[in-house]
Amino acid sequence: MAKIIIIEDNPANMKLAVFLLCGAGHEVLQATDAETGLALICAEMPSLVLMDVQLPGMDGLTATRLLRADPGLAHIKVIALTAHAMKGDEEAMRAAGCDGYLAKPFHHREFLEMVSNMLEKSNIAATDLKGAQS
Ligand code: MN
Repeated sequence: MAKIIIIEDNPANMKLAVFLLCGAGHEVLQATDAETGLALICAEMPSLVLMDVQLPGMDGLTATRLLRADPGLAHIKVIALTAHAMKGDEEAMRAAGCDGYLAKPFHHREFLEMVSNMLEKSNIAATDLKGAQS
């Protein structure tokens, strides 16, 4: 079980993501815009963020860049959520600092596999960090 924050302005996508993640036993926190989402990330320090790319106000890639620029938050895994993953979009998401992306509409199994892979990487990184400190 992990703490996961979803930043998504589309109610149907949010509902499905929450349903899938809660069903997998995770603690899920929600924000519908990037500004609120970043504040929630600072306060809650999740293992993983699911970040919609297209948001009202600040977009998801800008929010991811801000997260990566903050030494206290830079380690947090980010999966971009995108409606159109075209050639060049994946590069833009990687360049912004996203660890992976999921295309909408979500396919249940692909969604849960991506999340569990990302959490595994997050755990390995946390263990390495502890090892380096001791
Ligand atoms: Mn959106």
